[in-house]
Amino acid sequence: PKYVYTFAEGDKHMRDLLGGKGANLCEMVRMGLPVPPGFVVTTDACRAYLSTGHEPAELAEQLGVHLRELEARTGRSLGDPADPLLVSVRSGARFSMPGMMETILNVGLTDASVVGLVRHTGDERFAFDSYRRLIHMFGKTVYGVADEHFEQALEEGKQAKGVTSDQDLSADDLRTVVERYKKIFADHTGRDFPQAPHEQLQLAIRSVFDSWNSDRAVVYRRQERIPADLGTAVTVMSMVFGNLGADSGTGVAFTRNPATGGRGLYGDYLPNAQGEDVVAGIRNTMPLSQLAQLDRGNFIELVSIMERLEHHYRDLCDIEFTIERGKLWMLQTRVGKRTAAAAFIIASQLIDEGAIDPDEALRRVTGAQLMQLMFPTFDLERAPAPLATGVPASPGAAVGHVVFDAHRAAAANTPTILVRLETNPDDLPGIIAAQGILTSRGGKTSHAAVVARGLGKTCVCGAEALDIDLHAGQLVVGGTVIREGDLISIDGGTGKVYLGEVPVRPSPVLRHLTEHPTEAATDPLTAAVDRLLRHADYRRRLRVFANADTPADAARARRLGAAGIGLCRTEHMFLGPRRALVERLILAETDRERQNALDALLPLQRDDFERILAEMDGLPVVIRLIDPPLHEFLPSLHELTAKVATARAEGRDPGHEAVLLDAVSRMHEQNPMLGLRGVRLGLVIPGLFAMQVRAVAEAAAARVAAGGDPRPEVMVPLVGAVQELEAVRAEAQRVLAEVENAPHIPIGTMIEVPRAALTAGEIAEAADFFSFGTNDLTQMGWGFSRDDVEAAFFPRYLDLGIFGVSPFETIDKIGIGRLIRIAVAEGRTARPHLTIGVCGEHGGDPDSVRFFDQAGLDYVSCSPFRIPVARLEAGRAAA
Ligand code: ADP
Ligand code: MG
Ligand code: MG
Repeated sequence: PKYVYTFAEGDKHMRDLLGGKGANLCEMVRMGLPVPPGFVVTTDACRAYLSTGHEPAELAEQLGVHLRELEARTGRSLGDPADPLLVSVRSGARFSMPGMMETILNVGLTDASVVGLVRHTGDERFAFDSYRRLIHMFGKTVYGVADEHFEQALEEGKQAKGVTSDQDLSADDLRTVVERYKKIFADHTGRDFPQAPHEQLQLAIRSVFDSWNSDRAVVYRRQERIPADLGTAVTVMSMVFGNLGADSGTGVAFTRNPATGGRGLYGDYLPNAQGEDVVAGIRNTMPLSQLAQLDRGNFIELVSIMERLEHHYRDLCDIEFTIERGKLWMLQTRVGKRTAAAAFIIASQLIDEGAIDPDEALRRVTGAQLMQLMFPTFDLERAPAPLATGVPASPGAAVGHVVFDAHRAAAANTPTILVRLETNPDDLPGIIAAQGILTSRGGKTSHAAVVARGLGKTCVCGAEALDIDLHAGQLVVGGTVIREGDLISIDGGTGKVYLGEVPVRPSPVLRHLTEHPTEAATDPLTAAVDRLLRHADYRRRLRVFANADTPADAARARRLGAAGIGLCRTEHMFLGPRRALVERLILAETDRERQNALDALLPLQRDDFERILAEMDGLPVVIRLIDPPLHEFLPSLHELTAKVATARAEGRDPGHEAVLLDAVSRMHEQNPMLGLRGVRLGLVIPGLFAMQVRAVAEAAAARVAAGGDPRPEVMVPLVGAVQELEAVRAEAQRVLAEVENAPHIPIGTMIEVPRAALTAGEIAEAADFFSFGTNDLTQMGWGFSRDDVEAAFFPRYLDLGIFGVSPFETIDKIGIGRLIRIAVAEGRTARPHLTIGVCGEHGGDPDSVRFFDQAGLDYVSCSPFRIPVARLEAGRAAA
């Protein structure tokens, strides 16, 4: 196989084989841009090396051919004592993994060739500085010699000279440093620094291959969900030097502002320096615009190259460039990363500029980005410099008092930020109570991250700069000491941690969408979001419904674009003062007592429904009959036992509580989630479902009488067999027939028990519609109790790669998704016009929405807050 490609042989589409960096360098060469010559070793070669432990046989020969070609082009040869070719050996995978793998510069310098470099550049200081850097980078990367040994030697060199900056070391000083470095290298590796340039190159390539599996690369891939078996390509390119004097320099730039999306060049320049110095932040850079004063010609050329790149990639690009003695060289480009706000603004700008069409614009933004934009944010103009930056694990802006202990966080009566090295299941009460979670260890799949996302809590984890000392009850970061009780602010969208209270402002996007959905937005971000949402609405096939139980939620959902209510839960209507009626229902000893309790509940329910139907006039409202086990409405067994015992100990008669205790003990279930709930309640407790159906019908009749257009539907939960549904349906139809002036009310079922999915053909005979309850379907399909497992072992499962994301967050397309596909196919075979939706949490999850579109559902239903996200993703799925 062909393992090596010269830049002229590749292009931007070959990222799988040549890595993003390699493929884009090839593309720039094709565009005729000034790129130092070089070649790329493929990811195939890397994978072969990683699986067998040695380079594939053909590689050495192909490398030889390409190296000779490179030497011919540059007129220099690797390690030549007269005028040496030097190369960089750079990592670069299919997906950008900034700073995670290795790059070695100045390969080809030896005791002999450094003399040639001096002669050729006339700069002895520069030559020995380059040699020093090579020995350090090579020692560290190829042989794992710790940085500190080299750093210490350099420090000693400066001390001996009485100077503090590298710049003040003379050529002779650096010559001495090189000798020290070679000694350090030999001491730690048991061999001399390789003086054969070809051996340097071979070892450097191998160590770049190896860096694919470095600890930090492994962790990063897991966090970013990048597959572990892709491997990296290796780019070998001839070196250019930005540190050859005042007419040299190096910089990084973006074709638009990646933070705000603003138009215009944006970047940093550092005169007389190498690329790594910019990234390392060793010296203060100047804004790119100042290059215009320093070197007008190259500035103009750079601007024109950047315009060409933008035009060519039709997107924001970022670049690395170097000027060597007045000559500009392009070292890297790629479609640049950007913030969520910038993504929307740039996509919209590019439509205006005629670069892309609205479908393409829609593909360039994501529901996850939109979600970020709907959380409140810190007012960054009034924020201090951040103390530290960690992994942005769960979005939001949280302010609170530092607490190092979960129990104290749970007991606190002021807002807190729970600060831990890492969290474990015992911390759960504290996590629930806190405004936000901050840890110094772990990434996006750590316990803290998983639990916080599940709870919708702000979380920043893995902020390694925090030195947390639980015994001393303090944390130290960059010289600042923070004690328990001090106020801090954490930003779950950026991972930044601030000292003190940073002012929070509500999301302008959310405000616009809820308060003025039909008006034109004035700020550019909201206008861009609005524009892309409208296009998504125009494109999408899926309808978007809301899960809403109250008139207020219904109204909000409607403003946010809901086309109906896909899940109106009725159990919330049994809380508060109505508990007493539920108690009477449960404790009823005769049919008459039970009917009295139901008769008292009827008008209350009717009123609930009437108000919701009024808000959703003209739109479907799917009302689910009561689902949870009834004892959830009574005090807990635990609580009652204690009360009765106390009463008896104090010689009082526990009275009513003893009766309740009796009932609760009788109703106690080992697995309430698999117990007497859903349709089973309706079949066991006479009159309960009939009362609810009557309330729906009477509410609808009242709306009709008032001139409204009510569209209620009745949904039966937890059906596993058609016989269950048939029994409930017969009773419901009898009740509906009794209510005068009620509109037609469809009766359908949830598909949430795996057996229902597998017998959907039969069930469809008795159902006017299906709605997937994906929470229960996931819970029962996997046999995971949702309330227990996420904290208990999901982090471990995520680490082991058993799944890449919690199946309660994103639908498990393979397993649970199969149940869904079966149910859709069989349901529609039995009843071709069956309406099918989904009403679990997954209905608002960006990834899952795409799946539901492909599976042929008619609508997704999600919490009101997620409606814009679902609209956008449904549009993206269709665009
Ligand atoms: P990363 O992926 O971490 O950015 P790079 O491979 O881009 O690593 O290289 C690190 C630094 O070395 C960059 O600043 C780059 O510009 C610089 N560099 C790489 N190759 C060369 C070269 N041939 N000549 C000059 N500088 C180079
Ligand atoms: Mg780079
Ligand atoms: Mg359910």
